[in-house]
Amino acid sequence: MATTPSTAVRDIELREHPRRDATEDTEPADDFGGRLIQVTVTANELIAPNLRRLTLASPDFRELELTGPDEFFGLLMPQDGRDFESFDTAGRNIRAAVADIEEDVRPGLRWYTVRHLRQDAGEIDVDVVMHDDHPGPGATWVSEVSPGATAGVWLCNAIWIRHAERPLFVADPSAVPALLTILEFTADHHPDDLHRYHLVIVAHSPEDLEGGIAEDWSEKVASLQIIYTSPRMEAEAVTRHLHEAASISHPCTAAQYVWASGEVGMTKAVRGVAVDDWGVDTAFVDWVAYWIEGKPRP
Ligand SMILES: Cc1cc2nc3c(=O)[nH]c(=O)nc-3n(C[C@H](O)[C@H](O)[C@H](O)COP(=O)(O)OP(=O)(O)OC[C@H]3O[C@@H](n4cnc5c(N)ncnc54)[C@H](O)[C@@H]3O)c2cc1C
Repeated sequence: MATTPSTAVRDIELREHPRRDATEDTEPADDFGGRLIQVTVTANELIAPNLRRLTLASPDFRELELTGPDEFFGLLMPQDGRDFESFDTAGRNIRAAVADIEEDVRPGLRWYTVRHLRQDAGEIDVDVVMHDDHPGPGATWVSEVSPGATAGVWLCNAIWIRHAERPLFVADPSAVPALLTILEFTADHHPDDLHRYHLVIVAHSPEDLEGGIAEDWSEKVASLQIIYTSPRMEAEAVTRHLHEAASISHPCTAAQYVWASGEVGMTKAVRGVAVDDWGVDTAFVDWVAYWIEGKPRP
């Protein structure tokens, strides 16, 4: 089930980094561009043993156009027993605006990806990895929240650009929702690009992943590797995998564009190999620290 309608992504060429700017929205931009929307949770479903899908509804989503398929947003989660109360974001960086709210009523803020947008229903889905060892406010809220609860969504930007000449995508479970949106978008709009895509997914177990990824995509893309490794070994595992791929001249190592998202050490390792070993232009390496091992992600 991809974003519907498929035209809900504003610019389907996506040759440049997209930006949601102040001119189109009622709220002024901050660093990310931005716009605060009050939402109601309409579903909270376990779609894999360690993955929850939240559905969030707002009439504003009926008009929403995404800046790209991997658009992320700030989820503002009210404290226990409270409803979400909107607040002034005019001209503000969202983090600064949240920090100014009294501590006893301050909402939590964490970043997630729009997995699906259904304009007709005015809904988005977001897939959230449960990491039960040290759950922060994001995983805790998502594991407990029920339909009817309210929250805030701070719309941001997408990150991926369609640099279709031999792209390599590397994702851990937190970034697999974004990777799947890119694959679905490409299948809808640029199906001929898919057979040049190389995908590497680094996870601890299939329990962290939406089902059917290998079945749905292996035959459609140039290569898809799912590597299972132990916690805190992601960077080593992906580096070893990419070095081994280079040693057999695997075509993924001739990448001209790299999109790497997930734990910071893992994404840094991928960037290092791509830029230092393969000579990929830094302008064509999008590496995003989705979370930080052992630390909260502000
Ligand atoms: C652009 C962007 C898009 C993102 N999209 C998604 C998405 O669609 N789905 C999704 O699940 N996440 C996504 N993330 C990652 C998510 O924001 C982080 O995982 C965030 O840290 C979760 O907040 P928390 O409150 O649960 O944990 P935090 O308070 O940030 O951290 C608490 C502890 O949990 C650990 N931790 C945090 N996240 C993980 C994890 N994923 N796996 C294992 N341990 C973890 C930390 O190392 C820390 O020890 C995205 C991040 C960014 C920047």
